[in-house]
Amino acid sequence: MDYQGALEEVAAAVQAQIGQGQVAQYIPALASVSADHFGMAIADMDGEVYGVGDWTQPFSIQSISKTFSLALVLAHGGEVIWERVGREPSGSSFNSLVQLEYENGVPRNPFINAGALVVTDRLQTLTGDASTVLLDFLRAESNNPNLAFDPSVALSETDHGDRNAALAYFMASYGNLDNPVPTVLQHYFWQCSVEMSCRDVALAGGFLARHGLRADGTRLLPRREAKQINAVMLTCGTYDAAGDFAYRVGLPGKSGVGGGIIAVIPGRCTLCVWSPGLDARGNSVAGVAALDYFTTLTGWSVF
Ligand code: GLU
Repeated sequence: MDYQGALEEVAAAVQAQIGQGQVAQYIPALASVSADHFGMAIADMDGEVYGVGDWTQPFSIQSISKTFSLALVLAHGGEVIWERVGREPSGSSFNSLVQLEYENGVPRNPFINAGALVVTDRLQTLTGDASTVLLDFLRAESNNPNLAFDPSVALSETDHGDRNAALAYFMASYGNLDNPVPTVLQHYFWQCSVEMSCRDVALAGGFLARHGLRADGTRLLPRREAKQINAVMLTCGTYDAAGDFAYRVGLPGKSGVGGGIIAVIPGRCTLCVWSPGLDARGNSVAGVAALDYFTTLTGWSVF
């Protein structure tokens, strides 16, 4: 497979979509990013990386981090997390409060904000320092010791984090958080603020394509749990547009409001695309278009 040629064809095909949509406004530090960026990278099973456009430029990974923190919780603590969070699509917006009341403080899945807060809480309990454990893992897997949090983004989110605080306090009232709410929020905001490029993200997600094996060949997760994370990405990874993402792209994927999307082709490769203009449901307009084009071109959708 000529990965480089495919990436260049994809980038040319989505030119008209780049700059479309709206950059996330509700986190002020993200609102100042230009919508005109586009980058895409593929990491193959051996860790060889190919890229096009702005594929080496760091961006705010935001909710892509939820994939990695879930993997680390499973790696450290096994499957008990599923007693605290479900694995069904929510059909509601990523920061919705309303379903929590019907389900006794147990979020529908680990990729909406409520579910991610529960995952962060578990990671904090299991490791004692959730955000540092996440950053160390990302640095190791991407072979990039320079990866870092962006304090301006983390602080901006802290200052505008009333909705996430409401979610966390509501779940705490049901006994679904072990740690104090401010601790959970702090680690959650720092995790979301990690700056990575498409190259870094594609490499860091390699364990999902390698059925649980890390970049150094050691096992992070049993095959079964790697499979399960991919399944939850497919059904819940792109906000309340997971059905549309499956229909267009047909891969496990996780998007973030920074405009990045990670997508996995199990047994073959991991992709990351970044373009900050978002559609009404929070997914990158050019990013989804690029993955749609890629899986159509290659025939590598899981369908
Ligand atoms: N840090 C963002 C929030 O909690 C993440 C949102 C996202 O990327 O979906 O609102």
